Amino acid sequence: MEAKAAVLRGSGTPLEVETVTVDEPGQGQVRVKLSACGLCHTDLSVLQSVLPQTSPLVLGHEGAGIVESTGPGVTSVAPGDHVILTTTAFCGRCFQCVEGMFAQCERMPLALGGNFPFHLDDMDLMPFASIGGLCEYTVVAENTAIKIDDDIPLVSASLLGCGVITGVGAAINTAEVRPGGSCAIWGCGGVGLSVLQGCRIAGASTLISIDTNPAKLEFAKKLGATHVIDASVENPVEQVLALTGGRGADYTFEAIGIGEAMEQAYTAARRGGTATIVGVGRFDDSFSLSAGLFAMTEKTLKGSFCGKGASVRDFPRMLDWYRAGKLDLDSLVTTTYPIEDVAQAYEDMTAGKNARGVVVF
Ligand SMILES: [Zn+2]
Ligand SMILES: [Zn+2]
Repeated sequence: MEAKAAVLRGSGTPLEVETVTVDEPGQGQVRVKLSACGLCHTDLSVLQSVLPQTSPLVLGHEGAGIVESTGPGVTSVAPGDHVILTTTAFCGRCFQCVEGMFAQCERMPLALGGNFPFHLDDMDLMPFASIGGLCEYTVVAENTAIKIDDDIPLVSASLLGCGVITGVGAAINTAEVRPGGSCAIWGCGGVGLSVLQGCRIAGASTLISIDTNPAKLEFAKKLGATHVIDASVENPVEQVLALTGGRGADYTFEAIGIGEAMEQAYTAARRGGTATIVGVGRFDDSFSLSAGLFAMTEKTLKGSFCGKGASVRDFPRMLDWYRAGKLDLDSLVTTTYPIEDVAQAYEDMTAGKNARGVVVF
């Protein structure tokens, strides 16, 4: 079948909306009619060649939609099922899965590659992150399409696929925030705002959000921040210390992807506290820790990839929080775009206009 898609022919080329041919689902695959695809900073990193990709591809990886057809051997979903596409499909039986590290699965579709379901002229196009959500239809591995209840609006549900599970999971699964704790979060994009919500759901009582964009700090206040710090005018480390009795926060998070902010988050954690790095920065960026203080302060520094998420466990419980009014997905969607305006949507992302922009099909 034919479908409109956001196509990137190679690193450094512009994103173009093209009509591509989409394959039938093969063995163990599912073809999904996308309803919505959230726009994530990782897409922008591909567009800006920060995260170079070798193949021509269909961009987008935060999708939700309805199963259109299934290939041979598919048992967990059927045509008509509503699904969220997960960036952390896992096999459940490799070394990392058995260790409970589902986001590190050694057999996840992303690690295996080899799926090129889109075709344009003489090119076979790869679905970015094994999802390729910026297309009216995509073909994914069965364990990438996670069935959800039909009553959840798919535009809001799409955000769970990457940004929300990454942020909420960092608070719940990685940092294991405890009730009454103090939390300081660097970054108020879709991921940082989801870390904030995860900390609130976990029962933290002090919720400090940090950004350099005043409009984003307003989003944070709406989503439960008890304090906000504008890092363009105030020193965020000093302010976090001032708000936590001079001690530092129990839990700090970096959700931007900048070495300097990671160092600040580590510094602003209290002695014995936990700093969690959620942002994915440039591979040539870094930050340093004092060789004298690291042992003495007994802080824990954790990395958190995709919220240490297990989609089959985390999507249903996060949707329960959504239904209960604890997890606000709707407010995160600040602008929706047709696929034709996808390039503008990434320009708006660069300008910091949205909590989350979402392409709606
Ligand atoms: Zn993402
Ligand atoms: Zn595995």
